[in-house]
Amino acid sequence: MGIAGQVELESARQSIPASMLAAVYRGVNDVRLETVPVPKIGAGELLLRVHTCGVCGTDLKKIATGSHSAPRIFGHETSGTVAAVGDRVRKFQPGDRVIAFHHIPCRICYYCRHKTFAQCSTYKEVGCTAGFEPSGGGFAEYVRVMDWIVEQGTIRIPDGVSFEQACFVEPVNTCIKGIEALRLEPGETVLTIGQGPIGIILGVLGQRAGATVITSDLYPERLKIAASLGLKRTINASQRDVVRCVQEQTEGRGADAVILAVGSNALIRPALDATRPGGRVLLFAQTQHGEVVVDPAAICVDEKTLLGSYSASVGLQEESVRFVMNREMNLEKLISHRFPLRDAPQAFGLAAHPQPSSMKVVIQPGSARPGNAGKAERREGT
Ligand SMILES: [Zn+2]
Ligand SMILES: [Zn+2]
Repeated sequence: MGIAGQVELESARQSIPASMLAAVYRGVNDVRLETVPVPKIGAGELLLRVHTCGVCGTDLKKIATGSHSAPRIFGHETSGTVAAVGDRVRKFQPGDRVIAFHHIPCRICYYCRHKTFAQCSTYKEVGCTAGFEPSGGGFAEYVRVMDWIVEQGTIRIPDGVSFEQACFVEPVNTCIKGIEALRLEPGETVLTIGQGPIGIILGVLGQRAGATVITSDLYPERLKIAASLGLKRTINASQRDVVRCVQEQTEGRGADAVILAVGSNALIRPALDATRPGGRVLLFAQTQHGEVVVDPAAICVDEKTLLGSYSASVGLQEESVRFVMNREMNLEKLISHRFPLRDAPQAFGLAAHPQPSSMKVVIQPGSARPGNAGKAERREGT
């Protein structure tokens, strides 16, 4: 093939088709593969060709509960390559490898001024879409990134960092936010209940804050991964009494702080029991409304504090980007399953019913196509 032929082939690879594959949410537990139009972009917007999009617990919850109207295309832990830019975009050009946040707050309203960004009305607007009601759009081949996200919430991936590592910026941000809410002091002891990917990230961040971290899970496979990432004090909850183990390691007091990284309300009581008087419990996975029985004297007499943290904080964006892009933690190690887009329904099924061997599940709309792997991409552990 001559040079002209190669150029032609390259431009054909780069050209944007009129339609694409997407995993479309059509109702409760109903996600279908459909062919939809590739989104059109405006002057200040860009079109992202998705490489990897993480499956998040909140996606699964929306699919399982029907909390949102249909149709929608979910997916918000998105990394990929800029495929096209609008006339007014100066910061990016086609070929740039980036991640895009799907929510960015206004920074000026009452909630933003009080740093409760997740309550800001602009923040609640979703700025990435693959069509239908904007809902992230990462579970499609292409995503339209709207102007305020291009300006404030799109970040370049450095050479040498993979799309897989980069797609963790949003979940890491939510975890840093949770750790900040706990106000850990160096030397404190933290118990992290649940060692799925999020529990492990929370544990590593707790250690980074200077705390001694104890982890527990029912699955020894998960504790092994936790240990390989530096979390060596593990408790196999299927064999041992977690509360007693923690007391034994803290002169009978209990942990200074407990993080609940499992979405089970039945674990709130043991989490409080494992906390010392005056300690804190962070609910991190309790995303469903409901009711629980709490011992009021644990809060009043024992002065234990129940805290919550949800979603990401724009104030922690730079820190979370640094943590991920500097590879302070090998996040690729948390990915157990990679699915092509055509197998998205299976990916959701597995993520919703975790197996001992399953950790982070990602969908990779762009992994099979030629020419878009990113020249500096590293794929260790795959
Ligand atoms: Zn998420
Ligand atoms: Zn605001």
